[in-house]
This record gives sequence, C-alpha cells and structure tokens, in this order.
Amino acid sequence: MSNSVIKVNASTIDEMKNYYATNVIAKLPPGSVFVAKVDNLTITAYKSGKVLFQGSGAEEESNKWSRNTTNIADSKEKRSSIKNMHDFAPPVNIAALSIIGSDEVGTGDYFGPITVVSAFASKVHLAQLKQLGVKDSKNLNDRQISEIAKTIINVIPYSLLVLHNEKYNELQASGYSQGKMKALLHNQAIANLIKKTANESCDGILIDQFAEPGVYFNYLKGQANVVRDRVYFSTKAEGVHLSVAAASIIARYAFIKEFEKLSAKAGVELPKGAGAKVDEVAAGLIRSKGETVLKHIAKLHFANTEKARKIAARKA
Ligand code: MG
Repeated sequence: MSNSVIKVNASTIDEMKNYYATNVIAKLPPGSVFVAKVDNLTITAYKSGKVLFQGSGAEEESNKWSRNTTNIADSKEKRSSIKNMHDFAPPVNIAALSIIGSDEVGTGDYFGPITVVSAFASKVHLAQLKQLGVKDSKNLNDRQISEIAKTIINVIPYSLLVLHNEKYNELQASGYSQGKMKALLHNQAIANLIKKTANESCDGILIDQFAEPGVYFNYLKGQANVVRDRVYFSTKAEGVHLSVAAASIIARYAFIKEFEKLSAKAGVELPKGAGAKVDEVAAGLIRSKGETVLKHIAKLHFANTEKARKIAARKA
C-alpha cells in the first residue's frame, strides 16, 4: 500500500470535497473535513490543509492536486498554515521509508566553505548503509568519516553543493543571512537530487532542522523552484533517518577535503571551529599575507576577523 500527503489551501479542500462528493463516507476522524473512498484508495482531508492519500494509486491521485500546493506559496492562508510545526514533523514510521535526507557542514567554522548534501536512502539501501557504519557523524572521527563516505558515494545517489568563501562573503555583504544561504543550498541540493532520482519511488524529504519551517520557506520566497511536497523537518535528524546521517557524512567528507585544500593554499594548518586558536592563525595570515587572503578562506563577518586584526596589530 502506498501513501502520499500533500498540503493545499482551503479553497482546494472545497474543490476536492465537491470532486469526491459521491465517494465521501460518513465517519470522520478528528480534525478531518472529509473522507472519501475511491476503489482501494482512501482520501482524508484535514482542517490543517493536509490531505492524506492511502492505498493503490495514492501518488497518482495526489499529483492531480499537488499543482495547487505550489501556486499558493504566498497566500496568507499558506503562510499561517506553515506555522503549524506538526505539519512538518516526520511520519512516525519514517526510519523504514525511502527518504531524501539533507544536512550541512561548516556553518560554525570560520575557515572553510559550507557544504550541503542531500542523499537518497531508499528502503533497499537501509540495511547496507547501517552495515557500512552510517550513523551520527558526531560520533565518528575524520578518518572514519572519509572511509565511510568514499564507500557510500558509490552506493546511494546524492547531490553536493559547496559554497566557497569568496561567494559566501559576497552574499553576506549583499545582505544574505547565513540562514537564507543554507535554505537556498538545501532547496537546490534537494531539487537536484529529485531530478537525479526521478525514476525511484521516494516517500519524502527530511531536512536536519536549522530554522523553523515557516522561516525556512520564507527564505525561499521568490525562488522559482521551491520543493515543498512531503518536506519534513526534525532536529537531530541524523538519528531519525539514515539518509540524513549519510548526507552529513558526505558533507563532512567534502568539507574536510576543501579544508585541506585551503590549508595548502594558506601554507598553514587551519584550525576548525571559531575559537582562540582560529584568531591566532588568522592573525598570522594577516601579518604574512595581508588581510585580503582571508576573503578566500574564511567567513569574514565572524567576530574572529576583528579579533585577528587586533592581535596582528599588537604584534606588528
Ligand atoms: Mg545539521
């Protein structure tokens, strides 16, 4: 049995109610507007705007209506409904589903890029991923991460985006918050991967939550291609579905590789994070190469830049 969930506005719910008028059944679950049975398919519409299709042909039937989900992006109704966090909570059985997971690395590091990866873990790959050691990357060291990543990039489809420091600093200077950059990167990586895996059946998308869903979609306002359908958010999503754990491992692997390149370029081993060691190394670079070098290897708006300047001036 297949499942599909879409989100529509109130007028679409009315439209659907009329459309399925001859199929509605009397018994209503709490919070629902109508329930219709069409052959082996049950359609349940909720007051929240969520419509659940269960049974054979679920995907097909929901596709008839999902066009309405993207065209209402900016209506007031959609915006207020977006605020209902429970609408974006993953289904309880998500761990066993075929999911695209998305995660990013490098946002808290002064040196180095932001890497965002979306990875698709279908049901058939779940056992293999587990066996390969895919788990929360916070419990893995860099060597383990690289080893696992090198294997899984040949096993599952993924999309990797690297936001290099030059571009990051440009966007930041033009008014983009880091949150907005992340939202754009996740949305793009997910869209790329959906295209790549168009022939495979996917039950949904899980984003490791870095902003409230409403804020996330606000960041994407005005974008041509916003992925909304069956997008779920969860904090600590690495532990919720293996696709996010895999995405995180690949993102960290890409980050490590980029970081090594930058260290070679800088001629010094760059420290991770944004602590006092980072200030010292940045100060050293300012003295030896001049401050312009930082815009190619660091996130300039971090407080580290100012601290490094002071250290460099003191020691000059
Ligand atoms: Mg994350």
